[in-house]
Amino acid sequence: MPDDPILGLNELFKTDERPEKVNLGVGCYLTEAGNLPLLDVVEEAETRLSEKKLPHGYMPMSGIPKFCEAVKHLVFGEASPAVVEGRITTIQTLGGTGALQLGAAFAHQYLGVAKAVVSDPTWGNHIAIFKGDGLTVSKYPYLNAAKDGVDFEAMIAALNEVEEGSLVLFHACCHNPTGVDLSHEEWRKVLEVVKARDLLPLLDMAYQGFGDGLEEDAFAMRLFAESGIRFMAATSCSKNFALYGERVGALHVVCGDKREAEVATSILKALVRAEYSNPPAHGANVVAEVLGDPELKKRWFKDVVEMHDRICEMRRALAEAGEAEGADLSFATKQKGMFSFTGLTPEEMDRLREEFAVYGVRNGRICVAGLNHRNVGYVAKAMATVLKA
Ligand code: PMP
Repeated sequence: MPDDPILGLNELFKTDERPEKVNLGVGCYLTEAGNLPLLDVVEEAETRLSEKKLPHGYMPMSGIPKFCEAVKHLVFGEASPAVVEGRITTIQTLGGTGALQLGAAFAHQYLGVAKAVVSDPTWGNHIAIFKGDGLTVSKYPYLNAAKDGVDFEAMIAALNEVEEGSLVLFHACCHNPTGVDLSHEEWRKVLEVVKARDLLPLLDMAYQGFGDGLEEDAFAMRLFAESGIRFMAATSCSKNFALYGERVGALHVVCGDKREAEVATSILKALVRAEYSNPPAHGANVVAEVLGDPELKKRWFKDVVEMHDRICEMRRALAEAGEAEGADLSFATKQKGMFSFTGLTPEEMDRLREEFAVYGVRNGRICVAGLNHRNVGYVAKAMATVLKA
């Protein structure tokens, strides 16, 4: 059984003894110093929580209510009609992964959905999760031939062919692995097809805040919620709170009315009960503490802006360093979020790793958040050498 292409790369990186090595394979945001951040708002929330000396009781099956409310507001906006009308049920999950799994199980077991379609390419785990939940998975075209934008015509044509009632996975922002997102106009057109074909969208948003900002990145979520259609959304606090290991995420099911949302809640609880009974407390308590305190929340907004700005700065630095080396790395500034598709072939990615100790995924994906001012010039030079050969 081969290692997971991303996690296996990480293992290989650890054993590489070359001092110049750079890990652009992982899916984590790193600071300029190359470390995983511990956000100071998270630290403060943890101190407050530890001072409360709470016992370790079971959480409700649907999660911590304050967490679910706060995250729902962050994703859809407090004043969203769907929120105000009580049409959205939000369940705390084991990260974004757990939200996708729960959403797929709900669709398959209770809504009778048999098929799922995902973008080509997509995060590999989407396919594994959906198959694991009993869905048949196929793909719709996404990336254009130049690998720097969406082939929107082909995407729409394919969506028009999808069997009615199928689950369709969309990346709400910061598409993984390509970094290529839809424009507002394109989202509106996608929504029309979704309505016409009676599709069940599952919007995955693992990187809210890393694309254009916390509010801006929620555009598709809010557009879909305001349209009145039924859909699901999987969100994660792994990246924007840097709470990777705490497994904090949420599944939102946007229903036709409040009564339907209540029915959905009880079904989701039954699924949770059979899978893991109830979610872990710590990470969700931290998020609830931060989002529930206006001062901490404000500071967290600033933290997200800071992470977003560093990513953008590294995108610019990579493109500029590429230019200085005579290589066109302008893909970096055209794409958004933590990942970029370099357009490099698997063989070129192998050369980057073998000759230069620069680790990226074989499909050409690099994590831009693994770049910093010390390594970006070296990475650009390595890429330029590989591309020239
Ligand atoms: N969706 C996408 C597109 C992702 O990239 C990831 C994380 N790599 C997830 C979902 C899952 O996130 P989490 O770590 O919160 O399970």
